[in-house]
Amino acid sequence: MTRIILAIGLVLASPAAAQQPAAMSGWPADWYRAAEPATILPNVHSVGSEGISAFLVTGPAGHVLIDGGLPENAPMIAANIRKLGFRLEDIRYLLINHAHFDHAGGLAELKRQTGATLVASRRDAPDLAAGQALARPDQPGVPPVKVDRIVGEGGEVTLGPIRLVAHLTPGHTPGATSWSMTTPGPDGHPVKVLFASSLTVAGLTLPSHPGYPEAAADFRRTFAALRRMQADVFLTFHPSRFGLPEKLAKLKAGDKAAFVDPGELPRRLAEAERDFAAESAKQARAAQ
Ligand code: ZN
Repeated sequence: MTRIILAIGLVLASPAAAQQPAAMSGWPADWYRAAEPATILPNVHSVGSEGISAFLVTGPAGHVLIDGGLPENAPMIAANIRKLGFRLEDIRYLLINHAHFDHAGGLAELKRQTGATLVASRRDAPDLAAGQALARPDQPGVPPVKVDRIVGEGGEVTLGPIRLVAHLTPGHTPGATSWSMTTPGPDGHPVKVLFASSLTVAGLTLPSHPGYPEAAADFRRTFAALRRMQADVFLTFHPSRFGLPEKLAKLKAGDKAAFVDPGELPRRLAEAERDFAAESAKQARAAQ
């Protein structure tokens, strides 16, 4: 409903609304707003927009960029990377948490600018190649991008001391992939970081979505798999879903361990499971 009101508001407020990119009307304005980049762990940097996250993992043998945001976010991400003092040419791998327009939209342009190898899961690859989430034809299309390497459960992307491990966590999309790595924490001791893919139902029809009938079963398996995982640092791809602004404020105030919280993964997971159960129940009632 918020989205509809927002769309009507745009049309009423400005005759120029019709000239805006189709994808822009109705989506949160902060998705399109540039944000300051920030170093959140010695080798992990936040380089996304105000409402959509992207992370740069840096190392002496080159860097890895996770996610490309919206098509409109690509120049912001590139500028943020440069602002932190890193070169786009040193990015060797591009990874993606899931192939929706607000995370995959900037990949084609960022791949062009970096020449990096795009790594994605088998089930995200067709959506990336099509520039469209195939199970969500209601979502805007984005520039298509070719996947160079397919990664499966436990697959690794290694680059010097960087070792990122893929965890297939489908549900939000058939190919949703979370990534984990062990990296120096704020005091130099290793911490385990989880880059968690989105866990919301977000527009899927439960229990059986057209084009993705196994979504509900996938969510349940993903929740079970994440319950077995441990992470000292929980990151995900919308800032509000891991308290990025609050943690950055703490970091600025001198709390070097602002992002370290081993209790956050179980908390966020419980939240996601509650929302999934509530959404399932709501849709079941509406279908009666
Ligand atoms: Zn999504």
